Amino acid sequence: MAMKCPECGMTAHTRTSEYQTGTLKKTWYQCRNIDCSCTFTTMESLDTIIMKPQKVAEEPEPVQAVHQRLPQTLNRYGSASRLSNRQKAPV
Ligand SMILES: [Zn+2]
Repeated sequence: MAMKCPECGMTAHTRTSEYQTGTLKKTWYQCRNIDCSCTFTTMESLDTIIMKPQKVAEEPEPVQAVHQRLPQTLNRYGSASRLSNRQKAPV
């Protein structure tokens, strides 16, 4: 980056910069005019966020989406197996 020298108005170039906070940056400039060679610092800070990036909203999980574990038949004699009418013992 470049900035006008506050002493002579010529272009001053960045020598180094350092963030003071997440939104505040201090920059050291040196004037390119060798007869001036003014060095100075500036503070650059966040002014306005024009538009925030779209964040993918996490949809709240519907209560009914919680899967209720149903009895499963692991084999034909599993706890969920039912005898058919034909298999029931006569009363
Ligand atoms: Zn200058």
